[in-house]
Amino acid sequence: MQNRICENINKIKAEIEHTCAKCSRKPENIKLLAVSKYFPAEDIITLYNHGHRFFAENKAQELRDKIKVTPEDIEWHFIGSIQTNKIKYLIPNVSLIHSVSREKEIAEISKKAVYENIIQDFLIEVNISGEESKSGLNPDKVKKFADYCNNLKNIRLKGFMTMAPFDSDEKELHKIFGSLRNMRDEFNSYDKNITELSMGMSGDFKIALEEGATILRIGSSIFGTRNY
Ligand SMILES: *Cc1c(COP(=O)(O)O)cnc(C)c1O
Repeated sequence: MQNRICENINKIKAEIEHTCAKCSRKPENIKLLAVSKYFPAEDIITLYNHGHRFFAENKAQELRDKIKVTPEDIEWHFIGSIQTNKIKYLIPNVSLIHSVSREKEIAEISKKAVYENIIQDFLIEVNISGEESKSGLNPDKVKKFADYCNNLKNIRLKGFMTMAPFDSDEKELHKIFGSLRNMRDEFNSYDKNITELSMGMSGDFKIALEEGATILRIGSSIFGTRNY
């Protein structure tokens, strides 16, 4: 059981290296997040003992509970939908919030960051494909939202996150991830803090890497199938 999780992450890392070699990128510039949602803290500790330090959760309470029982030097990321009354569980515990798309969320994040006297890094989640069931902002609303964020204290926009529809073919995936990269490049031309591209999951991370992903969010290929 434990060995299987470690073998899985070794395999993913080898695939990242292989894909990076193909597209002339450096694996050390890619952050691999192990998405541990629905899996127990023991599995996180197994990977920790194997040397892994970067983990992500999508529920604030589950994250808070896992932080209590896992090593302190884990770098946590939050990738789920944000409920304003649970932001208190995230700050100051998470290094990056990936999934911001509403004014009231970021206003609350700012308030809590001011209270904790920290700078909270975040990404704007973008719904590139425009698919209705997906969370995130429509691309044409991103600039206005980023301007709103710019007026808030103690937060720092680091880049963008997206999820591709599960049924996308390779061509669509290239298009979706490429669009997010173009958006990042445009913002980066006037704000050098904006560098990150959180895109790529178990099923599509190789294409995301080819399109410039800097952060991969991988769950089931590491931990196994989730039982919801
Ligand atoms: C669950 C989840 C992932 C990981 O998905 P897998 O297909 O299991 O790799 C990535 N990103 C988000 C936002 C998720 O909720």
